[in-house]
Amino acid sequence: LAILSDALHDLGDSFSLGLSWYFQKLSKKGRTKTFLYGYKRFSLLGAIINSIVLVAGSIFILTKAIPELFNPGETNVQGMLYLAILGIVVNGAAVFKLRKGESLNEKVVSLHLLEDVLGWVAVLIGSIIMMYTDAPFIDPLLSVLISFFVLYNVYKNLKKSLLVILQGIPEEISIDDIRQKLKNIPKVTDIHDCHAWSMDGQYNILTLHLRLDKDYKLSEQAKLKERVRTQLKDESINHITIEFEGQDEYCELEDC
Ligand SMILES: [Zn+2]
Ligand SMILES: [Zn+2]
Repeated sequence: LAILSDALHDLGDSFSLGLSWYFQKLSKKGRTKTFLYGYKRFSLLGAIINSIVLVAGSIFILTKAIPELFNPGETNVQGMLYLAILGIVVNGAAVFKLRKGESLNEKVVSLHLLEDVLGWVAVLIGSIIMMYTDAPFIDPLLSVLISFFVLYNVYKNLKKSLLVILQGIPEEISIDDIRQKLKNIPKVTDIHDCHAWSMDGQYNILTLHLRLDKDYKLSEQAKLKERVRTQLKDESINHITIEFEGQDEYCELEDC
């Protein structure tokens, strides 16, 4: 049973890691006629699918480990030890290589690999303790602790991914801050229809309407737009769309 579940785990691992690698690569693709913002959210899709795989995996481990806590089985301690060392080396190298990933997708992948490393560390510690003492419950106990650690981290990551697809405001952006900065531009009399969202948790978009105090030539408007962009350059926004309005112009998106 142990070998079967290990094989199943490895198969699931290869599948989900391959999937996120594929989505990560796909997310670099620019715009097409169908996906006008490019493929950035595919990376997010990878993060969400992998989070679900991790949750399912952790729950599966819990359903096996919790009963074993009360009724620990026999274990081949020496074999466990060697397998653990091998597992730590292989998975540790993968974590070390992938650690620099910035996207939510890559973070979930790192978390997944970290889970595997921690799993093997637990097996290592467990086998060392069991060599010297008769404490067979150590093995399932460590599994339970790791599963909770992973579930907690998946929860944090999944929350971020869902915030992005549900169009929540990106964590690093403050609309009040933006309004404050734009109010300091002399020619601007009003700011409205301000929307900010994120494509993938990294690439952020802002749209807004600015009412101006009088008529400006296009060349003057261009300078003003430049000023707005400069003013907001520290706000981690990658894509700004600005619409100018005159003093008496009616805008149906005033309170949108
Ligand atoms: Zn407007
Ligand atoms: Zn609007």
